Amino acid sequence: MAHWAIIGSGLAGVTLAKELATKHDVTIFEKSHSSAGRMATRRRSADGYEFSFDHGAQYFTIKGDGFQNAMQPYLDQGIVQPWSTKMVTITGDRIIPRPSSHPIYVASPSMTGLVKAMATGLDIRHKVEIKAITPTPDATQSQWMLTDSDGKDHGPFDGVVTAIPAHQAAQLIPEAKPALDQVKMLGCFTIMMGFGDDQVFRQDLRLDWPEDSDAAYVEDSPLGFVAVNSSKPGRGNKPSVVVQANNAWADTRLDEDPNKIETLLHQEIKSTLGFDAEKAAATSFHRWRYAATQTPLGQPYWRHECGQLAAIGDWCIKGRVEAAYDSAMALAQSILQD
Ligand SMILES: Cc1cc2nc3c(=O)[nH]c(=O)nc-3n(C[C@H](O)[C@H](O)[C@H](O)COP(=O)(O)OP(=O)(O)OC[C@H]3O[C@@H](n4cnc5c(N)ncnc54)[C@H](O)[C@@H]3O)c2cc1C
Repeated sequence: MAHWAIIGSGLAGVTLAKELATKHDVTIFEKSHSSAGRMATRRRSADGYEFSFDHGAQYFTIKGDGFQNAMQPYLDQGIVQPWSTKMVTITGDRIIPRPSSHPIYVASPSMTGLVKAMATGLDIRHKVEIKAITPTPDATQSQWMLTDSDGKDHGPFDGVVTAIPAHQAAQLIPEAKPALDQVKMLGCFTIMMGFGDDQVFRQDLRLDWPEDSDAAYVEDSPLGFVAVNSSKPGRGNKPSVVVQANNAWADTRLDEDPNKIETLLHQEIKSTLGFDAEKAAATSFHRWRYAATQTPLGQPYWRHECGQLAAIGDWCIKGRVEAAYDSAMALAQSILQD
């Protein structure tokens, strides 16, 4: 039995931890106060209303048999539920149906719920940001120490896996840098709006949305995707909307003044969609430095020849929830076969 450290408790880190824990000791380090990473939810209360916004991943598909089997217990418990909206594309003033070949799913009552349920029983140290991975001085042991942002050491560990965005992983594992530098991830900005009632929410709508459509991809615009978040199962009955910026548009503006970007996106949302931030009871804004994957690694994980250092994440395969799961499972199989 070995002791593995995993850095990051998004879907990839938690999936790997569950698999390795069948044979090894596992400790996860997570810089945030809770788990789920980019399958994120933000809560806001205003004017006596409670809003929850999925401000990272909007939905996911379940395509492979492995992911289907892994999700089945959560589907059975209602932690994962279908989102029965019809997808559309907005292009200029036109709304075009966008049929999906696979059903789409969300965690309920909020996106974080899936990873939190999967993480039950795992040893996760929250609010610990790992800044360095170093070999122990004892050359005969070949083990690893982790140092956090307060300068505190953790370990020793027999192996360390990063389950964080590629650029951040490359900073922690210099040996992985040449490979991981080939990965290109794009940023995003998220606008969240919660409304007191349905009338205010819909009164300025510019487009003729089909009754059963609450999700749209937007083309040729600084906007990328819009979701009526409150239409997802378990989100309560107060209308809320989440708008993701176009990734390519956002990526070139990540270091600009956030207030300026937020104002610009509010204006764009009002003129394109008709949702008016000024009439919202609650608004919020988030910047993602690493959101989507433009150029993936092209292999399901990176593993050093020594076998003790590895990196996983959605970006290995494709910037999607199921890819994060597939990446973790592929590395788990490799480690468990050792
Ligand atoms: C805006 C946005 C929209 C998206 N929309 C969709 C969508 O609609 N459908 C879809 O399938 N996918 C979508 N995605 C992608 C999806 O969220 C990811 O594929 C998936 O969540 C990645 O999981 P992961 O475990 O690989 O990484 P992450 O979820 O990023 O997890 C990494 C974790 O590591 C932690 N961490 C980072 N550095 C450190 C450190 N040094 N020390 C300790 N902890 C650390 C982070 O806090 C985080 O919890 C979207 C993502 C974003 C941001």
